[in-house]
Amino acid sequence: MIKLTAWLAFALAPLGASDFDVLIRNARVVDGAGNAWFRADVGMKGGRIVAVGRRGSASADRVIDAKERVVAPGFIDVHTHIEGSVEKNPRGDNFLLDGVTTVITGNCGSSELNLAAWFAKLEKLGLGLNVASLVGHNSVRAEVMGSANRAATPEEIRKMQALIDRAMRDGAVGFSTGLEYIPGAYSNTAEVVALAKAAAAHGGVYTSHMRDEGIHEIEAITEAVNVGKEAGMPVEISHLKVDRRSVWGASDQALALIERFRREGVDVVADQYPYDRASTNLGIRLPHWALAEGKIKERLADPPTRAKIAAEMKANLQEMGEPDYGFATVARFTSKPEYEGKTIPEVAKPRGHAADVDGQIETIFDLMNAGGAGMIYKLMGDADIERIMRWPWTAIASDGGIQQLAVGRPHPRSYGTNARVLAEYVRQRGVLTLEDAVRRMTSLPARTFGLKDRGLVKEGMAADLVMFDPAIVQDEATYAKPHQYATGFDCVIVNGKVAVDEGKATEARG
Ligand SMILES: [Zn+2]
Repeated sequence: MIKLTAWLAFALAPLGASDFDVLIRNARVVDGAGNAWFRADVGMKGGRIVAVGRRGSASADRVIDAKERVVAPGFIDVHTHIEGSVEKNPRGDNFLLDGVTTVITGNCGSSELNLAAWFAKLEKLGLGLNVASLVGHNSVRAEVMGSANRAATPEEIRKMQALIDRAMRDGAVGFSTGLEYIPGAYSNTAEVVALAKAAAAHGGVYTSHMRDEGIHEIEAITEAVNVGKEAGMPVEISHLKVDRRSVWGASDQALALIERFRREGVDVVADQYPYDRASTNLGIRLPHWALAEGKIKERLADPPTRAKIAAEMKANLQEMGEPDYGFATVARFTSKPEYEGKTIPEVAKPRGHAADVDGQIETIFDLMNAGGAGMIYKLMGDADIERIMRWPWTAIASDGGIQQLAVGRPHPRSYGTNARVLAEYVRQRGVLTLEDAVRRMTSLPARTFGLKDRGLVKEGMAADLVMFDPAIVQDEATYAKPHQYATGFDCVIVNGKVAVDEGKATEARG
């Protein structure tokens, strides 16, 4: 037996074993820290980066000639939603081909609750990406309280804390809220602080899809920061934006406030996706109270309540500065996929409703009665997007999920976030330098979430790398045709395994 094993080892690793498993030669290294690029070779062994420098005479099982292309740390996307989609495509092609090697999921208050069981299941599937998860407030609250529209009792707080404590012990990296969604919207700040403390006890980060991203954004930022201060944990503001036409431009006040908190010693940063449209459910257009206890159908069937919901929706439209629901496009409506890609005014007609706002609200009620819909909303202005992107502590993150080619009409951000920043905001508009953009995709998110051995091209770090030509890298996904992989990421390495080779996903599961 010993002899056979020795023979096998000999056969698999021929005499004079290589210096490296993989060696990338002739690279321009963008190290992730924000430093100016430098020329070097990068050697990897055992899933780690073991050499960065001139290694002209070294041998390797696989040598990749970068031919002056950029080699950067694999991108760390700290804002994703892969629950339910990773099982269908564990390799995560849309992320890999956008240069992503690590995702953090469980954002916006929505996560798996039994993380130990979920992680075990994912291990068996064989993942293409590194995955970490937050534990989500809405998932925890739904488990303990359903969609009750009231404050939690002390007993319910204890039960929710116990679920968060277990998730943190199972490896969660922090606690996320989605306070614009049901049932998180029914909670008060005291509840959020009490729950955040259960995650802070294990060194977790607090990430928040805030209560408001428009007219009341200043109050919402203050709440998020206060949760971090009171619970004693770092804060990441999720997908920072100004999502009301009526207050476009307000990002300067928002960033000034966050800067003030930072000067006072609060560790608060943000993430952002580089698009002018948001993507979420249809229910978010209705008043929160209308969705309580899952009784939306009953409420819509009661004429006075239906009229009250419609009146509040009209008032909200006015507050947003929108003339009608032309900003709202159906992304996913499984019972009538022909609606996908159409705006609410465009769907009103085939539903037999008038094209005016009243008819559009009736259309929304129809879709809610049919179980709701996935939506894309044109809500953000260019000036705010660029200003938020220039702020030094904004990480690039997609807010996307793992996609299956040709299923639904998802937001293009799942396919093209990083390529779009490099093509549009670095190459075309010059909003960021290449080195700074890469920093926001790598070492900044690694710092925030405590991923100590990722996010830099440096000896000893995990061998997560991406290789691309900054002159041609390009996002291809659009709102009209989202199922298009980004192009230009020629090589992506995950824990030393070549996961994308010559621009194509391989069978390797890093
Ligand atoms: Zn969100």
